[in-house]
Amino acid sequence: MRRFGRFVWSVFYPWVAVGLVCVALILGAMELTGCAGVSRTIGQINLISTAEEVEMGRKFSIEIEKQLEILDDAEVTAYVNSVCQNLVRHCGRQDIGYRVKVVRSEEINAFAVMGGFMYFNVGLLRAAGTEAELAGVCGHEIGHIVGRHSAKHISKQLGLAMVAQLVIGENPRMWESLVANVLSMGAMMHYSREAEREADAYAIEEMVGAEYHPEGLVIFFEKIRDLQKRTPGAVERFFATHPPTEERLATARATVAEVQGLSRLRKDSLDFCRMKEHLPEVLPDQDGEESQG
Ligand SMILES: [Zn+2]
Repeated sequence: MRRFGRFVWSVFYPWVAVGLVCVALILGAMELTGCAGVSRTIGQINLISTAEEVEMGRKFSIEIEKQLEILDDAEVTAYVNSVCQNLVRHCGRQDIGYRVKVVRSEEINAFAVMGGFMYFNVGLLRAAGTEAELAGVCGHEIGHIVGRHSAKHISKQLGLAMVAQLVIGENPRMWESLVANVLSMGAMMHYSREAEREADAYAIEEMVGAEYHPEGLVIFFEKIRDLQKRTPGAVERFFATHPPTEERLATARATVAEVQGLSRLRKDSLDFCRMKEHLPEVLPDQDGEESQG
């Protein structure tokens, strides 16, 4: 235990020193990148470097996938991945890989895990009416990764000592409890309103870059809001983790209205229609529950 304590200190002492210097230098700034190769933020504190974020995301995805049923359909997964990669090429974060998996669940849900891991439920793919709507959700999830929202949230929630244990992997039980926490309450995906707005703004940028009509984002999130009003519980998890508030939708609508040359941007594709036809029906299991998302 003492040896572990010394190890943690030896690993993190340089960080702490670098962090303090950075704090002194950029007090009041929102985010610092490139300080000894480590990204740090003030306000929404981020103590996790990109390499650590990817490693944590990898471990987290392994744990989370033990509790999800991943769809074994190369065609559907390749299609969703192609939409995401179109957007990724125009996103503001190119220092990590973005991985896409489809979850065999009819619940309308999608989420991003830190480090570039993204999950989209069959139910969400079914609910999207056009490729641009799907691109809106994909862009929003990519936006959370671009904004490092999970890393900032975890840093804030856990603090340096626990983040150190997670990164080093000395406490495998902590992963289990974190994943259980996320799956039961969506706790780690409860981003701030600011993070949600930022993810929308990134999504709109990516969509315009990839020549998707950005109104798809607004249409899909309005659909989620209306569905939640009509059928409370149908989109509970998605609604809880990315709440489409009126203020957020108004901001996104206003941003879309400022985009030049909207008429040249595409809304749909034949591949999207093919994917929809190819979607499997996911029946609830004998306990009446589907895979969670
Ligand atoms: Zn969100």
